[in-house]
Amino acid sequence: MQLTERVFGYPWRGRGNNCNSYLYAGEKVILIDPGHIQNEFRENCLEVLLQALAKDGFTLENIDLMLCTHSHPDHCEAAVAIKEKKPVNLAMHKDEEPHMELLARFFEQMTAKRPALPRIDLFLQEGELELGAAGEDKIQVLHTPGHSPGSLSFYFPRDKALVTGDAVFNGSIGRTDFPDGSLETLGESVRKLSAVKEVEWLLPGHMQPVKGQAAIENNYRLITHMFF
Ligand SMILES: [Zn+2]
Ligand SMILES: [Zn+2]
Repeated sequence: MQLTERVFGYPWRGRGNNCNSYLYAGEKVILIDPGHIQNEFRENCLEVLLQALAKDGFTLENIDLMLCTHSHPDHCEAAVAIKEKKPVNLAMHKDEEPHMELLARFFEQMTAKRPALPRIDLFLQEGELELGAAGEDKIQVLHTPGHSPGSLSFYFPRDKALVTGDAVFNGSIGRTDFPDGSLETLGESVRKLSAVKEVEWLLPGHMQPVKGQAAIENNYRLITHMFF
């Protein structure tokens, strides 16, 4: 589903858990948070995403880079399967590498099943990521920990769109009770995100996007009042 000139959104609509995926089609085509391969309801999340991408005219062949806001299986498990179909680099914050390993052990103890872990090819830090030779197409990378230590948010200035992962949702915030989680740190991240100027689309990792500056400002006010 096309949201802006270059940003496409794929909100998860199934019964079980999966994240929302996004695609940025600028000078490079970037898939953000490909989600689960299959979830706890045995819904084929990756198949659903690939079909939705195809409707908008994209195949895996078009993808230049995958970004994950963080390493939880509902955001990045499908990166394992995508890398088997097409060699494409996966980028995340470096703090997600040990966190991913820690969480895999945690899930294994709970469910007796170890999630598939993707290889992280590139480590991202807070700052600007230039996408094309012309230098006009950029992503502002923000380090927004709290839900996980290496959680990132991505701001696309040309499209005024902010992908927030599991830091900020529509009327809520990400959980902080996983290993390495911190509500206090998440509060600082929410403050950092609320300071990003010119946001017309807030694109969360779960639930519906928030559209329009006034609604987005209101959303920050609401969650700050409720949780911090
Ligand atoms: Zn998460
Ligand atoms: Zn999530």
